[in-house]
Amino acid sequence: MIQQFSIKTRSRDDWIDLTATVRQIVRECGLDEGIATVFIPHTTAGVTIQENADPPLRDDITRTLDRIFPWHGAYQHCEDNAAAHMKTCYMGSSVQVIFENGALILGTWQNIFLCEFDGPRTRNVVVRTSN
Ligand code: ZN
Repeated sequence: MIQQFSIKTRSRDDWIDLTATVRQIVRECGLDEGIATVFIPHTTAGVTIQENADPPLRDDITRTLDRIFPWHGAYQHCEDNAAAHMKTCYMGSSVQVIFENGALILGTWQNIFLCEFDGPRTRNVVVRTSN
């Protein structure tokens, strides 16, 4: 089963917590156990699983990515967002989470985040559940 939804990001770099929506999709998918794949069909936004308890950590990650991939670099890309593409390569475009009894198996401190690198924009999220 495939579900899609859209979200609005708020700034050039942003983290959007997708966990509650993915949990709901898994609860309603009709499968007791399987795998939920969360895919971001964009080249300047990615997805990752990260700590949910301390939002400043996400700022730390954002600032570290800015140091690794500075916005104003010697890039050849025809747009001015090459750094956003590189950050997306680094973070990846999909994650998979196992579910059992209709519930995601995530660690206590783990949530699923969309990572915006060239916002604000409307972003699409695709979730496929399978067993
Ligand atoms: Zn581009």
